[in-house]
Amino acid sequence: MKLHEYQSKLIFSKYGIPIPKGRVAATAQEARHIAEELGGRIVIKSQVLVGGRGKAGGVKVARDPQEAEQLATQILGMEIKGLPVRKVLVDEAAAIESEIYFAITNDRAAKKPVMMASAAGGMDIEEVAAKTPEKIIKVHIDPLLGLREYQARDVALAIDLPREYWKDFIKIASGLWQTYKENDATLAEINPLVITKDKRVMALDGKMIIDDNAMFRHSDLAEMRDIDEEAPAETEARKYGLSFIKLDGNIGCMVNGAGLAMTSMDVIKLFGGEPANFLDIGGGAGADKVAAAMRIILTDPNVKAVLFNIFGGITRCDEVARGILTAMDEVKPKVPMVVRLVGTNAEEGRKLLENANMITAETLADAAKKSVAAAQGK
Ligand code: GDP
Ligand code: MN
Repeated sequence: MKLHEYQSKLIFSKYGIPIPKGRVAATAQEARHIAEELGGRIVIKSQVLVGGRGKAGGVKVARDPQEAEQLATQILGMEIKGLPVRKVLVDEAAAIESEIYFAITNDRAAKKPVMMASAAGGMDIEEVAAKTPEKIIKVHIDPLLGLREYQARDVALAIDLPREYWKDFIKIASGLWQTYKENDATLAEINPLVITKDKRVMALDGKMIIDDNAMFRHSDLAEMRDIDEEAPAETEARKYGLSFIKLDGNIGCMVNGAGLAMTSMDVIKLFGGEPANFLDIGGGAGADKVAAAMRIILTDPNVKAVLFNIFGGITRCDEVARGILTAMDEVKPKVPMVVRLVGTNAEEGRKLLENANMITAETLADAAKKSVAAAQGK
């Protein structure tokens, strides 16, 4: 689950990371009031759950409350990368001297959290990562020992941070580590962490992703979920207990079991196709869950074919077949569908689907080949 900038920064501030004064507003009038309270120059920032708001025109500086209201009107009417802006953060504007990139995330390959920092922070960090990755310093953190002070000092040295800021930086590094650890985050990112002209260090932007698997022990964070700003397919999937991740290919996949789902995606790629999603319907899925999964897959306009790969164990193939039929009745899919059913009640399942005009397959390889061909219109 992604948190908004204003939510992330509030959490940061609880861990001792300085943030600008400010509040979130849902209307331009409210933005004006906040600007009046704060006084001085103001920054109006769209709150959407994607990066690159600055480049999209979703972050603007205003000189006075009147301009703040104008800019808020404009930004509240925007869509950024397909997401409507429903809230803006109204912050005291900072006079920026320099921008640092600073984050902690999971390094899966190293099986450890990694702290990353760069003196080349700000809006072009993606380009820095692609073209001059040596400018991004990485330090792994032992999860049992936690972040050690010498590590934060090493980072400060490596990014050529002037000595006068080391004390602040080390405190912020420790705060970021606590934020990451105690909230079960998979990402806690500050970009930019700025040094201001009046020599303060603070987090101007904030981004956090919380591990959904840990949500059960963070009811306060769960309440922060902003359903309006999430991709509708993901909200729908969560409602039915489906694990769904949208991808960029054109073959929709419905599989029971995360391992089998990943294998199915690999085999699709092996035969030259690209999966449109990862979808695990889980063990023992009933017809209604299957129908929901199918609706979710078919609402993606990129999907040119669907592959059902069901290995019946506690999941019964006849239940899955009934779900497919229910969904077909409802959504009337226009794309070819390839189905492979094996295991518990596979025979009954196949019988149910006999008249459903689906392409059948015996093995996973066969099913993948057929769905790649179907997606290419062959
Ligand atoms: P992002 O583009 O979605 O990452 O949004 P950010 O919050 O990082 O803002 C983008 C850029 O706007 C920053 O890198 C800054 O250069 C600029 N910016 C943000 N807040 C302020 C501010 O208070 N004062 C000034 N002068 N610039 C700001
Ligand atoms: Mn940013």
